[in-house]
Amino acid sequence: MRVGQWQAWSLLEGSFLLDGGSMFGIVPQSLWARAHPPDEKNRIVMALRAMLLVGEGRKILIDCGIGNRFDEKQQAIYGHRRRPGGVTGALARLGIGADEITDVVATHLHFDHMAGLLNRDEAGALVPAFARATVHMQQASWDWARSPSSWDQGSFFGGDFEIWERHLRLRLLAGDTVIAPGIRVRETSGHTPGMQIVLIGEGADTLVFCADLIPTAAHLRLPYIMAYDHQPLTTLEDKKVLLAQALEENWLLVFEHDPVMAACRLAEKKGKVVAGEAVCINLPGRHKHLRAEL
Ligand SMILES: [Zn+2]
Repeated sequence: MRVGQWQAWSLLEGSFLLDGGSMFGIVPQSLWARAHPPDEKNRIVMALRAMLLVGEGRKILIDCGIGNRFDEKQQAIYGHRRRPGGVTGALARLGIGADEITDVVATHLHFDHMAGLLNRDEAGALVPAFARATVHMQQASWDWARSPSSWDQGSFFGGDFEIWERHLRLRLLAGDTVIAPGIRVRETSGHTPGMQIVLIGEGADTLVFCADLIPTAAHLRLPYIMAYDHQPLTTLEDKKVLLAQALEENWLLVFEHDPVMAACRLAEKKGKVVAGEAVCINLPGRHKHLRAEL
C-alpha cells in the first residue's frame, strides 16, 4: 500500500493470548466476548502486527513483536504463535534482510511490542535482530521501562535494555517528533508513560499505527480501555481527539492486536464513531482469517 512517499506493509509476527478482562477494563465480558470469544482460561487471541515503511532511502519498522525468545513456561502462559521467522521471516519474504532495516520506531517498550528487537541465536544468547537500526522511542518510555513499578514490571523484559544500550543506536525523543519526511510520532501517555502512535502521510492519505491507544477495532468504543492503562482518562481524551480527526479526514487506522481486522477507516452511526469497512493491507485474506488460521 502506498501512503504519501512511503510504501507500507503490515507484517504479522503471529499471535498470543491475554486475559480478556484485562484487555477491556470495566467493560463486562458479556459485551466484549461477542467480538473476542475467550478460551477456557478466559484468554483472547491478540495479533502481533508490525509495520514496514520503505522510502526516502530508508526501511523503517514500527514495533517488532515478541521474537523467538520464549521458554516453555512463557510459551504456555502466553500461547505465543509465531509465523515462520516472525518479523524477520516476513521481511525475508519481501526480499529484505534484517540488516537493511535503518530505523525501528518503538511505540512503547512492553514486551509484546518490542521484545523482538532481540532474538535468541543458536547458542541461546540474545542478540540484536536489526543490528544497524536506529531505535526511536520517547525518553519517558525509556525511563519508565528501566524502572517500572511493581504493578507493571511484568510488561517489560528488563534485562534487554542493557543489551540495547550496548549494541544499538538509541534516539530518545521529547514529545511529538518528525521521524522522516511524512512520518511523525504523537505522544499519548495514558497506556504507559511515553507511548507514541505513528502517523504516516498527510490529509486523507494518512495512516495511523494506533499501538495500544486503540489495540483492536473493539477499542474504538470510548469506554473500551485496557485495565493495564496507567491513566485511563488520558487514554479516553487522546482517543476522542484521534477519532474525531480520523473521521473528519478519512484516515486509515491500523490495529496492532486485532486478530480479525488489521485496518479500517471510520464511519459515524447514531452519533458514535464506528469501524467502517475493513481494509486489507498487502496480505489480503490472511489478516482477515487470522483467528481461524491460528
Ligand atoms: Zn502495551
